[in-house]
Amino acid sequence: MALIVQKFGGTSVGSIERIKKVAERVARTRREGNDVVVVVSAMAGETDRLISLAHEICKVPDEREYDILVSTGEQVTAPLLAMALKSLGIKAKSFIGFQIGLFTDRAHTKARIVKIETDRIKKELSEGAVVVVAGFQGITEEMEITTLGRGGSDTTAVALASALGADLCEIYTDVEGVYTTDPNICPRARKLKKISYDEMLEMASLGSKVLQTRSVEIAKKYGVPVMVRSSFVDAPGTLVTKEDEEMEKVLVSGVTYNKNEAKISVTRVPDRPGIAARLFGPLAERNINVDMIIQNISHDGYTDMTFTVSKEDFQKALEIVKETAKEIGAEDVIADTEIAKVSVVGTGMRSHSGVAAKMFQALAREGINIMMISTSEIKISCVIDAKYTELAVRTLHDTFELHKEGGRIEEER
Ligand code: ADP
Ligand code: ASP
Ligand code: MG
Repeated sequence: MALIVQKFGGTSVGSIERIKKVAERVARTRREGNDVVVVVSAMAGETDRLISLAHEICKVPDEREYDILVSTGEQVTAPLLAMALKSLGIKAKSFIGFQIGLFTDRAHTKARIVKIETDRIKKELSEGAVVVVAGFQGITEEMEITTLGRGGSDTTAVALASALGADLCEIYTDVEGVYTTDPNICPRARKLKKISYDEMLEMASLGSKVLQTRSVEIAKKYGVPVMVRSSFVDAPGTLVTKEDEEMEKVLVSGVTYNKNEAKISVTRVPDRPGIAARLFGPLAERNINVDMIIQNISHDGYTDMTFTVSKEDFQKALEIVKETAKEIGAEDVIADTEIAKVSVVGTGMRSHSGVAAKMFQALAREGINIMMISTSEIKISCVIDAKYTELAVRTLHDTFELHKEGGRIEEER
């Protein structure tokens, strides 16, 4: 008998029919003799719908109210699933964040989990109930409702698995596992049997939304084995785990894209010490993460600064930057939301060169212009026009031969 956490994403609970199917799967796991904690997302499209309602009221919604609003999506699916389980004869109880004491910091809209009280869940499990938890939400010490950022139910699930010492955390979604790239835009994408925490972390943070980045961080830190698999078909999934000998040793392990960023340029910024701090300080104070930054060489005492932020933070960031630009005497602030970041990821890049050149050549062959570049020792990212995203991903996947079984370019041992 094991303790298993099962998380079901939006599409997996997208209709009453689907919720009943999920209940059958959970019931099977329970009947096999396991203790089961289930984490659910909102029904597909519901979180987007709630966010757009907020934006119909105002451009930059108050974050406290936003969290109360968007957390309701999960509050619907949790009791529905508990009801479906009960109608199958399975004892079940649903809970929303505050009831189980899932505490977060105060960073509304992207809060981090700081503590989970497990007493209530353990008591319910010991009494034989399946515990169904509404994902994505938590509570601050002041009893304010928070949410964990888009895709945050993954993090609820992995954090619960860690806090409860679960044997496995299963992430059920609408694809069969983690692929070399998004299988929905690249038909040649290949499902991986296993992936290391580090590679998964990099893929997630660069846009593979199959797992929220924070969930992988927690899984890695506490050694939670995570299995990503389909809720639609019975097929082996992908195990996210510690790096081991059996894993493919490769140069490039995947291609990712992120269409969820926007670019902001501040032109003719007076080029003097402290100006970057002046520009980015107010963004940091408001919890806005800046991703890529480019500063052009100054010719006449002025410089152009370009950077990217997530689309969720875009309006807020733009308002703040316009204010700062005025104060520091910059010329203009130009925004572009039609961009995408495509990245090539692989831990093997640490010891090899030439990947960047190969990537740039591949994009050039397709006539795709690169607007920004950033590199780390295990990834290369390029910002391009969003309309070329799919083409870029497929081209890069082909270029690095990721479709071949064991054919991801071999690293020398
Ligand atoms: P859920 O609602 O179950 O949380 P998400 O939409 O958040 O599902 O994540 C699953 C989606 O992630 C897939 O439908 C797929 O389009 C996308 N995806 C992006 N990159 C990858 C990848 N490398 N492997 C698998 N899926 C990926
Ligand atoms: N419902 C939330 C979202 O759509 C959280 C999640 O699904 O993981 O982002
Ligand atoms: Mg998700």
